[in-house]
Amino acid sequence: MHKNTAPQTPMMQQYSTIKSQYEGFLLFYRMGDFYELFGDDACAAAGVLNITLTQRRSSKESTGIPMCGVPFHAAENYIAKLLQEGFKVALCEQTESPQEAKKARGSKALVNRDVVRLYTKGTLTEDSMLPQQAATYLSALYTYKGASAFGWLDLAGGTFNVTTVNAATLLPTLNRVNPSEILVEEAQENTFTLDTWESAQTTPFGDVFSPHIAERTLKEQLHVSTLDGFGFTDKAQIAVCGALVAYVAQTQKMAQVTLPRPQVSHQGGTMHLDPATCTNLELTKTLQGQRKGSLLHAIDHSVTAAGSRLMEAWLNAPLRDKSAIINRQEAVATFVAHKAARTTLRQTLKGLPDLSRALSRLNFKRGGPRDMASIYHVLSCLPTLGKALNTLKDPHKVPHLHSICTNLQSHSLTALLHKALNTENLPLLARDGDFINEGYCPDLDTYRLYSHQALDLLQQLERDEAEALGISSLKIKYNKVWGYYIELTKANAAKVPSHYIHRQTTTQSQRFTTEKLLEIEKNVASSGQKAQERELALYEELRAAICAESTSLLQVAHALAELDVFLSMATHAQEKGLTRPEITEDTVFEITAGRHSVVENTVETFIPNNCMLTKAPLWLVTGPNMAGKSTFLRQNALLAILAHIGCYLPAKKAKIGLIDRIFTRIGAADDLARGQSTFMVEMVETANILNNATEKSLVILDEIGRGTATYDGLSIAWACVEHLLNQKRCRTLFATHYHELTQLEEKYKNLNCYHVAVKEWEGEIVFLHEVQKGAAPRSYGVHVGRLAGLPTAVTQRAESVLAMLEERSAHTLGAHQQMPLFAEGPIAPPHTQPHTPTHTPPQPVENAETLSAKALATTVKAINPDALSPIQALETLYQLKKQAQEGGQDGTHH
Ligand code: ATP
Repeated sequence: MHKNTAPQTPMMQQYSTIKSQYEGFLLFYRMGDFYELFGDDACAAAGVLNITLTQRRSSKESTGIPMCGVPFHAAENYIAKLLQEGFKVALCEQTESPQEAKKARGSKALVNRDVVRLYTKGTLTEDSMLPQQAATYLSALYTYKGASAFGWLDLAGGTFNVTTVNAATLLPTLNRVNPSEILVEEAQENTFTLDTWESAQTTPFGDVFSPHIAERTLKEQLHVSTLDGFGFTDKAQIAVCGALVAYVAQTQKMAQVTLPRPQVSHQGGTMHLDPATCTNLELTKTLQGQRKGSLLHAIDHSVTAAGSRLMEAWLNAPLRDKSAIINRQEAVATFVAHKAARTTLRQTLKGLPDLSRALSRLNFKRGGPRDMASIYHVLSCLPTLGKALNTLKDPHKVPHLHSICTNLQSHSLTALLHKALNTENLPLLARDGDFINEGYCPDLDTYRLYSHQALDLLQQLERDEAEALGISSLKIKYNKVWGYYIELTKANAAKVPSHYIHRQTTTQSQRFTTEKLLEIEKNVASSGQKAQERELALYEELRAAICAESTSLLQVAHALAELDVFLSMATHAQEKGLTRPEITEDTVFEITAGRHSVVENTVETFIPNNCMLTKAPLWLVTGPNMAGKSTFLRQNALLAILAHIGCYLPAKKAKIGLIDRIFTRIGAADDLARGQSTFMVEMVETANILNNATEKSLVILDEIGRGTATYDGLSIAWACVEHLLNQKRCRTLFATHYHELTQLEEKYKNLNCYHVAVKEWEGEIVFLHEVQKGAAPRSYGVHVGRLAGLPTAVTQRAESVLAMLEERSAHTLGAHQQMPLFAEGPIAPPHTQPHTPTHTPPQPVENAETLSAKALATTVKAINPDALSPIQALETLYQLKKQAQEGGQDGTHH
């Protein structure tokens, strides 16, 4: 922490006062053409931005304070970098000119400064700082009287949602929304575990979450006297929405902000995908963090950025309502059937500007004439889109198309913007002028005329004076200090007439003015200034007219994005030969000739496979390494997700009963940051599945128990399969290298064994990638190691070790002997069994029906109380009681 004890200069006092109001923010303090940072802010920023750290010191100080600065015109880039690194920035501007300061408070007056904007990750609207194809969400979380609500707002994209959450639904919701910033009340910071989102937490200024304050904020923002019509289910939802509105106002430094109306969404409407599932299935980005290679990248054919953003939002929140899914399918089906209309619509949408982002910039007074032109451009295309939509057969019978057609009707702003805006060569900023059409405002036209005439007069004066003095090099020039002046070279000094008023002498020239030049200059200045003022006033009027239409414009933006997504889905369906899945209310899962949307793009020939989980809801999939087990498992999870967002599927035929949650346990990675080893992560994910899956869930398990010793792993995998079959009864795909598990097929009729086939040919194996009935004979791990380039000496040795182990195993186990875990009845707690040496199978546990008092005594003897946790001890006690009771019953029967 930097400390400077020297008395502060007035400027540094001003700096310190402002800085103290923005704790947690780096203060960008405007000084001339630079934003300067001081003290600890400077030290932190200089490192991140890679800029030179200097010192600021007054004449009285021996040591200064660290300082660094960035040019004001490039500030956005630097701020973006700092935000990326987790900082927040307060932008402090000069709120008056030095002249105004001097005039108001004397010659030594310090210019007033104030913070005009707070930059935080969730409150950005600048195009240069936002990703184009992804939405950026500001969110808030609050609990009031036992109810918790979570709200999320896309400032630039025009969406605002709130929902009720609890400890179980919060993380999936966070994962789906993926907010850049989460507002929490300081006192409530630890109510929930925010997991990896902990670092995105922010506390807003003041008491913005208090329900009565939040309610007032919200009513003011929505211009309503009651919130009854918004469907809020409790005060926590109102508090969250009010806090979000207040925080936006705080960061944008606006008393009143224009935001979309909050929508209350109900958790039951969408499928929960936990973070591990989204990551493992590479839904929106690959494990390496790239969009390319993800499912989203493979299926997204949107032609607008808003379409891509909506597609991503849909993919993160598959629907759970049959009719909602079918409504989407209907819209896709219509566009599949109308190729010509689809092409026209896509061509029209292509290249359309981002309506919601342009609107948000205007709403936050950050936009310019180009944003208005963007809005005009979009609105002027609506009739073309409407015409193409009308060529569809009965579009109004399809709910989504009906609302798209309704929202894309001609908009009242189009005529106004057409009349007002000159869309050629638009300036970035309104103050640069010349963006209002001639004829729109008579006053403006007059000022412009004067201004142009005055310029003509200047040129005429230049010609007249040059001719009168006989000096062809005479020029009328302009600079900021002297305004317009006549410039003569020194060689012509003798020819200067007496009415010339001397202004300045330079090494090469002399500069003069005349009464006439002064008069013309006055005209140029006044008419130019008046034109500029008038144009700025017109800009403000237009801005207000556009912002007043925010709600209807956002409806247009949303309808365009939806249209783009449906067109994209239909295009994808046609290009890839996809099938419309049948969605049912039961628990079927029948895929005929399914394909993996991403992998099929990376291989020459993709082998389609069936997956029929209906009669036997658990498929145990074995097969050699590299055969395609993971691909098969993921493919079916992806098909399920695609079906629930309304997409057509890469399959010949598909029938899927509604799925409430998809669970996956795929691959393994350490989560060292949270102190979890690979195996621990695996077990946490498995526990989540076994605790939360329901009969309507789809469970994908790609290897369980591989991160520990063989018998521990096999036992865990075995018990998990049984639990899924007996307790959960959910549709499950379970891939494993534990071939012992295939014995379960004999016992459970709701388990089927499948394997991914290979062919052995001249000592080599050929991967067929075909999923076939039955268990795989072996794993071919050593063979795959050879393919991967392991040294020959190693693979040869591995082969001989394998042969040895297999022989020993066959000898110890006996060909007829089944795996011990296959035995029926209650199994003694694992900790009661003596440790099993490697490759010596555990002894079969006695069947409950024959368990005698003697056996019970043996079990008791095997217990090591010192090794038991209290919970394990209690469990053991229950087990023993159960065994004793069963034993007792037996006794009475026999
Ligand atoms: P391991 O047990 O080593 O994890 P695996 O059986 O899970 O292997 P995958 O990773 O699914 O194997 O597949 C290996 C490769 O085989 C894939 O990268 C893909 O290129 C190819 N492949 C998988 N399935 C198919 C298929 N149905 N058609 C064509 N190629 C496929």
